[in-house]
Amino acid sequence: MNTSRRSLLKGGIIASMATGFAAMPAIASAAEETKFPQHTYDLVIAGLGIGGIVTAIRAAENGLKPVVLEKMGSAAGNTVYSAGFMLGVNTKMQQEKGLKTGDTTEKFYEDMMKVSQGRGDPALTRLVAENADDTLNWLHDYVGVKYGVGAKLVWPMLQRAHLTIGEEKPGGKQLMSYLLKKAKELNIPIIYNAKAVELLDNPKNGTVTGVKVKTAKGFEEYIGKLGVVMATGGYSANKMMLTMMAGVPAANMPVRGSNTVTGESILLTAPYFPRVVNVDQYHCGPIHGPTGANPLNIVNTGIAVSKETKRYTNEGHTYVEMSRDTAAKTKDNWGYMIVDEDTHNLPMLKNDWFSYASKKAPVYKADTIEGLAKEAGLNPEELKKIVDEYNTALKEGKLDQLTPPNTHKNPRPILKAPFYAVPFQGGMTATFGGPLINTKGQVLDTEGKPIKGLYAVGNAAGGLFYDNYVGGAQLTSASVIGRAIADHMKALMQ
Ligand SMILES: Cc1cc2nc3c(=O)[nH]c(=O)nc-3n(C[C@H](O)[C@H](O)[C@H](O)COP(=O)(O)OP(=O)(O)OC[C@H]3O[C@@H](n4cnc5c(N)ncnc54)[C@H](O)[C@@H]3O)c2cc1C
Repeated sequence: MNTSRRSLLKGGIIASMATGFAAMPAIASAAEETKFPQHTYDLVIAGLGIGGIVTAIRAAENGLKPVVLEKMGSAAGNTVYSAGFMLGVNTKMQQEKGLKTGDTTEKFYEDMMKVSQGRGDPALTRLVAENADDTLNWLHDYVGVKYGVGAKLVWPMLQRAHLTIGEEKPGGKQLMSYLLKKAKELNIPIIYNAKAVELLDNPKNGTVTGVKVKTAKGFEEYIGKLGVVMATGGYSANKMMLTMMAGVPAANMPVRGSNTVTGESILLTAPYFPRVVNVDQYHCGPIHGPTGANPLNIVNTGIAVSKETKRYTNEGHTYVEMSRDTAAKTKDNWGYMIVDEDTHNLPMLKNDWFSYASKKAPVYKADTIEGLAKEAGLNPEELKKIVDEYNTALKEGKLDQLTPPNTHKNPRPILKAPFYAVPFQGGMTATFGGPLINTKGQVLDTEGKPIKGLYAVGNAAGGLFYDNYVGGAQLTSASVIGRAIADHMKALMQ
C-alpha cells in the first residue's frame, strides 16, 4: 500500500486535532508515493492492554490470525497499574466457594446505570452485565487467570468482586501476565515498539483496512483483512487533550496509572468522523503525586484542608469527588488529611501508611494541632480553629451545618495525640470518553452507522462510563467487548 496525498491530508486532520489548530494542507502538497514493508493478518489490534490482548486471544481461539501492535517495549497501559478487580454475579468461582450473594445480572446492570447517572449506553451496559459471568469463567478456564472471591471488596459489597491473584502486584500486572502466557501458547504475534500513527483504508469505499506503524527501523504497514481494533487506552496521560476536553483541573492531576495512554483512538480515528462521546468524563482518586503513595482510605477519615488552611470539600463524599474537589478548589491541587492517633491505628488504614512509608512520602506528625500545622507548613491558628469547630460540631451532631458541610456517616473525632497531616492530590485514573461503539465493538460514525473495518475496545472506546464506574467494571467490560469483537469477526468469516 502506498502513502498517498490522501493519507497526508488525513495526517493534517490528525495534527489539527492534536494541536487544536486548523488543518495543515501544506503537508499534503509535499506528498510522495512511498512503499513500506507490509504484513497481512486477519485483524490488527493497536494496543496491548486487557482490551487488546483479550480480543487477540479470543480471535485466535476462533481460528483467526490476529496481530497486536504495542508502542512501548512491554504492556505499559493502565491494565498493569490496575488493582485487578473484575466483576461477576454468579461465576464458577463464586459457585465453587458456595457463595450466596443474592446478586443478579439485573442488579449489576442497574448499579452500572446508577453510577453512570443513567448516561451509560443501555445496550452496551446490558452486554457487559449479561456477559460478565461467561467472560470471567472463560478467563479462568481458558486463559488460566486465578481469582480470589468471597470478600466484600468493592461497592456495592455484594461479593461481586473477583480479585486477580498470584505472585505479581498489583493484580492488574498479574492479570496481564496470565494473558501474555496464553497469547504465547497460542503463538499470537505481539510487535513491540510499533506505534500506530495512522489508519489505512480502501480509497474506493473508506473501509478501514490497516494501521501504519512507526518502528525504530521506519514505517511499516499492518493490514487486517477483517479490520482494525483500536485498543490504545484513553487519554489520561495527554495533558493537552485533557485541558481541551476535561478542563484545567483534570489536566493538572498527576496520573495514577500509565504515562503511555495518550488518546490515539480519538486522534487516529478522527478522519473517519466517529461519534466521540463523554470526553469530559474521567475517574480520579487520591495520590501523592511526587512519589505515587496512595491514601485511598485515609481520605475517608478526618478532615481535609488546603495549603491555605481552609476546609474545601465534604469529607463524607466519595474519594472520587474529594479528589475532583482537591484538583478544582485548592491551590496547585494539594490537600492535607488531618487525623488523630485513634484514626491512625485503624486496621483499614494499614496499607495506606505502608504506601506512604515505602514510597518515602511525607506524613507530618506532632503532639499538638498547632505543632502539626507548623510541621506541615499550614497556619497554626487556623488549623486549631478548624479542628475545634469540627470536634464541637461532631459532638453536637451538627457536622452538616459546617461550611462546606461534612456528611460522613461515621465521622471520627480529632482528639487524641499525636496528630497527623497527610498531603495528597487529586490524581487522574482513567478517561471515559472516546469513539462510541455498538455491541459488536464497531465504531459508529456521526450518523450512528458502523464505520466499516473500525473497532474499539477498553478505554479507547466511549459509551459505557460516565461520572464514575462500579469498581471492577472497566477491566470486565474491556474483556466482554474484546470477546464480542472477536466473535463478530468469526461470524464475518462464515
Ligand atoms: C491505579 C488504577 C487502578 C485501577 N484498578 C482497576 C480495577 O481494579 N478494576 C477495573 O475494572 N479497572 C481498574 N482500573 C482501570 C483499568 O485499568 C483500565 O480501564 C483498563 O486497564 C484499560 O485497559 P485498555 O485495554 O483499554 O488499555 P490500557 O491497559 O491502558 O493499554 C493500552 C495500551 O496501548 C498502548 N498504546 C497507546 N497508544 C498506542 C499506539 N499509538 N500504538 C500502539 N500502542 C499504543 C499503550 O502503551 C498501552 O500498552 C484502574 C486504573 C488505574 C490507573
